[in-house]
Amino acid sequence: MQTDEPGGRQGLWSHVAPADWNDWRWQLRHRITTVEALEILLPLTPEEREGVLLAGKKLALAITPYFFNLIDRADPNCPIRRQVVPRVEETTTAPWELTDPCDEDGHTPVSGLVHRYPDRVLFLVTDRCASYCRYCTRCRVVSGVGEQHLETNFTVAIEYIRQHTEVRDILLSGGDPLLLSDERLEHLLSQLRAIPHVEFLRIGSRIPIFLPQRITPELCAMLKKFHPLWMSIHTNHPREATAEARDACALLADAGIPLGNQTVLLRGVNDDPAVMKSLVHKLLMMRVRPYYIYQCDLVRGTHHLRASVRKGIEIIEALRGHTTGYAVPQYVIDAPGAGKVPVGPDSVLAHDKQRIIIRNYEGRVFEYPEVGDTYVTPPVAIR
Ligand SMILES: *Cc1c(COP(=O)(O)O)cnc(C)c1O
Repeated sequence: MQTDEPGGRQGLWSHVAPADWNDWRWQLRHRITTVEALEILLPLTPEEREGVLLAGKKLALAITPYFFNLIDRADPNCPIRRQVVPRVEETTTAPWELTDPCDEDGHTPVSGLVHRYPDRVLFLVTDRCASYCRYCTRCRVVSGVGEQHLETNFTVAIEYIRQHTEVRDILLSGGDPLLLSDERLEHLLSQLRAIPHVEFLRIGSRIPIFLPQRITPELCAMLKKFHPLWMSIHTNHPREATAEARDACALLADAGIPLGNQTVLLRGVNDDPAVMKSLVHKLLMMRVRPYYIYQCDLVRGTHHLRASVRKGIEIIEALRGHTTGYAVPQYVIDAPGAGKVPVGPDSVLAHDKQRIIIRNYEGRVFEYPEVGDTYVTPPVAIR
C-alpha cells in the first residue's frame, strides 16, 4: 500500500521494510514513549517538553509510528499533535475537574466492571492502549502510571454478568480491547456469548485509528463468530480518516460488524462546524455511522482541551438538516452523577394539549396539532 510520495505512507519511517511497517507488533514495539525519542522527531515547545517529562506520573506517553506520521510537524497547533503530545497544562487542575468524573468507581460492583445503566455493563478488559489520548477520561487507571491500578478479575466479572440476568449488553473497553491477542479475545467473547441473557456485544476501540494494522483478516474471522457484535471506534479529526483506517473499517464491516464512531469535542482539534462536518462525511465514506460527540469529561488536567457546550450545540445545529441524517451524531454530556445526557439545539419551543410549536433546521417556526391520548371521532364537515 505504498504511494508515490517521497517516503510513501511511511513518512519518517521510509527506511523500514513495508512488511515490518504493516505488522502491528512492529508498530507497538516502535512506539514513541520517551522525551528523547520524541524530540528527535519533533521540535517540542517548552510547554510540551515539560508536559512530556511530567506525563510519566499521570498518563504515559505513547504514539504509534503510524499515527505520529499524521502530525504536521511544521504546525505547533496541529490537531493530531494536540491529542497525543502531553503539555504542561495537564499537571494543573481546574476547580471543577475530578479524578473519576463519571464516578465509575462508585458504580463498580466487582473490579473492572462498571454497572451504571440498568441493562448494560462496561467491562474494562485491559489498561493499555496503542497510543494515549491526553484527555483520557480513565487516565486514573489507564497506561499503568496513574493514581490507581486496574485489577480486572475476568472470572469474577464474568460470574457477576452470569448472576445479573438484567445485563443484555456488554461493552468491552479499557484500555483498548483489541490489544489483547486474538486467542485471549476469542476466549473472552466465547465465555460471554455462552451466557443466555447476553444479547448484544460491542467493543470500544481506537485501534482502527491508532493501529489499523491490527485489523487483520484473522481477527475479523474470529470476531464474526460472536454476532451480534458491534464496534465503536474513536475518531476526532478528518485527517485520521486515512486509507489505512478506511481499509481496516472495510475489513470489519465486511465481517458484518456495524461500526459507530465516538468523537470527543476538543478545543483546537475539532471545535469547528466545518471540521466536524468534514469528519462525519469521511466517516460515512468509511462505512462508519457517527454515534456520539462527547463533551470533554471533567477529568483533571484537561481544561486546555475543553471546548464550550455552546460550541457543541452550534456544531449539531450546523449538521442537523444540513447534511445526511446518518452523519449527525448525538451530542452528550456525561455529567458527574448524571450519566450521558443528550444536549442539542431546541427544536420544541412550546407544547400543550392542543399543539406543539417546532423549529426546523432553517430556524423557521411551525405550529403542529397535538393528538389527545384517548380517541375522539374527528368532527366531520357537512356541506
Ligand atoms: C457510555 C456507557 C455505556 C454505554 O452507553 P450507550 O448509550 O448504550 O452507548 C454503558 N455503561 C457505561 C458505564 C457507560 O459510560
